[in-house]
Amino acid sequence: MRPDPSTTQRAAALRSLLSRAQHEYYVLDRPTMSDVDYDTLFRELQAIEREHPTLQTADSPTRRVGAPVQSAFRTRRHLVRMLSLDNAFDDAELGAFEQSVERVVGDAVHRQGYTVELKIDGAAIALTYRDGVLEAGTTRGDGTEGEDVTANIRTIGCIPLRLLGEAAPALMEIRGEVYMPFAGFEQMNETRVAAGEPVFVNPRNAAAGALRQLDPSITAQRPLRFFGYAAVLPDGTAPAKTQWELLDQLDLWGVPVAPHRARCRTMGEVATWAQTVEHETRAQLGFAIDGGVVKLNDMALQDELGIRSDRTPRWAIARKFAPDMAVTRLQRIDVSVGRTGVLTPFAVLEPVDVGGATVTYASLHNADQIAKKDLREGDYVQVVRAGDVIPYVLGPVPERRTGSETAWTMPTQCPRCDRAVQRYGDDVATYCANVACPGRLLEGLVHFASKDALDIDGLSYARIQQLLEAGLIHDVADLFDVTAAQLQALDRFGQKSADSLVAAIAAAKQQPLSRLLFGLGIRHVGAQAAQLLAKQFGHLDAIIAATPEQLGAVRGIGDIIASSVATYCADPTSRALIERLRARGVRFDEPNAVQADGPLTGATVVLTGSLSTLSRGDASALIEAAGGRVTSSVSRKTTFVVAGEEAGSKLEKAVELGIEVIDEAELIRRTRRPGG
Ligand code: NAD
Repeated sequence: MRPDPSTTQRAAALRSLLSRAQHEYYVLDRPTMSDVDYDTLFRELQAIEREHPTLQTADSPTRRVGAPVQSAFRTRRHLVRMLSLDNAFDDAELGAFEQSVERVVGDAVHRQGYTVELKIDGAAIALTYRDGVLEAGTTRGDGTEGEDVTANIRTIGCIPLRLLGEAAPALMEIRGEVYMPFAGFEQMNETRVAAGEPVFVNPRNAAAGALRQLDPSITAQRPLRFFGYAAVLPDGTAPAKTQWELLDQLDLWGVPVAPHRARCRTMGEVATWAQTVEHETRAQLGFAIDGGVVKLNDMALQDELGIRSDRTPRWAIARKFAPDMAVTRLQRIDVSVGRTGVLTPFAVLEPVDVGGATVTYASLHNADQIAKKDLREGDYVQVVRAGDVIPYVLGPVPERRTGSETAWTMPTQCPRCDRAVQRYGDDVATYCANVACPGRLLEGLVHFASKDALDIDGLSYARIQQLLEAGLIHDVADLFDVTAAQLQALDRFGQKSADSLVAAIAAAKQQPLSRLLFGLGIRHVGAQAAQLLAKQFGHLDAIIAATPEQLGAVRGIGDIIASSVATYCADPTSRALIERLRARGVRFDEPNAVQADGPLTGATVVLTGSLSTLSRGDASALIEAAGGRVTSSVSRKTTFVVAGEEAGSKLEKAVELGIEVIDEAELIRRTRRPGG
């Protein structure tokens, strides 16, 4: 069928669009088209060319691997052509791949099945090893020849300069992906912003760009890593019988191999693996992947299948994932007020799908981060959901600026109460110091009622907002005064729901001190610190009476927490709140607390040698229950040392420092409760 003029035109337009995109992506490392758009247009052109072979030109982007080499580097020919991969965007396309394989090799496929590997989103590299020694590193280029980036490759620490173990073939190319982990990528971009340099759009472009640095000392500063996934000999064969064995062999040679590979018998198993990797594993990897690669395991069968149109093998396919990175517009930057008064700027984005979830908001952490990334309101930004399910703004796409974007600064007044905001010393956070700020109050009440704090059933975010708006509460103590009659007068409250909320609030009075302490929302005091303090001091009054040094002497409580607790307790507003809670019958003690005034309160004890009647664990428990603290090394701060049989250097140190040394029997005597 002859193509109609509009199809011919469309094909020409697609060719030119895709050629430009390839150049921007492969040569300039600065794509302006999203991968999804690229893949869609690429497939459209492939479909037209399949239907109208006369429209396929020799220079069509669909026939090309990468882009022709155009750089200051010398070119180097690959031993054997480096290929790209065909893509499967869903399970049906995986099924079609399986059928195409079975059509050629039949049942033989079941003998070795398939190997599936992570598809690392970096830059393809060929490493030439002669007699096991690294001779050259070459980019994929157009597949036949690439840029000789050997000097840069040598700066990547994890690439072996000499292969380990078994004798390596006389000449071999190991192929794999150079990539940049997220953490290094972020750090590098921060340094670039600080130096006034433009940031990299994503780790892939950063890795590809770093490889093409003319000055290897710059590449050396970039946090690059490498995973190998193939090896070829000059005759085109591989130094292993199966892909799985090849990966094992690479590992033995000391070449890093990506984790999470698997062997699958059918595409059904591949689909299950891909599902887990996409939705579970991916978020924990710390580096970008854009899919999985399925390879026929048996190398002899791979040969039988061969390649398709000089561009892709018939024996492998990439199962692409939804991108976990997207570009969208940063509409504006808003600020939220947390319970401790920290002002957190967050991005309000044009909603965008990132890795299967719609993202509208993303925390920007603090003003310094925004300045470092040079984010401006109105910018197009890169959004990722990586390493975590929490969306993260990587940075702006400066090429898409129109000049209408506006720089952002932290407001000088709290957006909720208008009071002037504050910054303390080197702390990167900005605070609203007004304890009565409605923003802080709301978050503080939500925290007070939350699961790990007083765990008040039915006191949801919306209900707290309702109580605040009705003027029924102004702080957490007010909660205990709210009556069922007051609640019933509000919208969406019936007698039953009002009664049960009042009962739930009353029940919360009996929660132990650890939960109350956490619920008060003292800066830096998390649930664990609250438990340690409650256990050690036993009563809120003892915590109030303690000095910062005494608070800091509790194991697990550092200086920052200790001073924050002391500051909170010394503050007249918090003291008034504590008294109001006391008056309402809120419990201030901790069941199972260690003796606050125990026989060893304040003592620091070191155990050494083997004890005869007590295990180490029992001895420690005994000391802690008596109010003491066990540490592992002897110093001037040690109160006494308990020495058992064959005590060694710790005993010597104690003698040297003149610290009292006692035996096990004495320890048992000293930890006895008075009258016990
Ligand atoms: P590809 O990246 O989709 O797949 C082939 C490459 O995967 C190989 O060359 C290899 O480098 C890599 N790979 C990673 N892990 C692997 C493993 N375990 N085994 C084998 N190979 C592995 O193909 P490509 O030809 O490099 O690039 C095409 C893709 O690049 C497109 O699908 C598109 O997403 C993107 N692209 C985007 C633009 C744009 O403008 N946004 C332009 C060109 C290409």
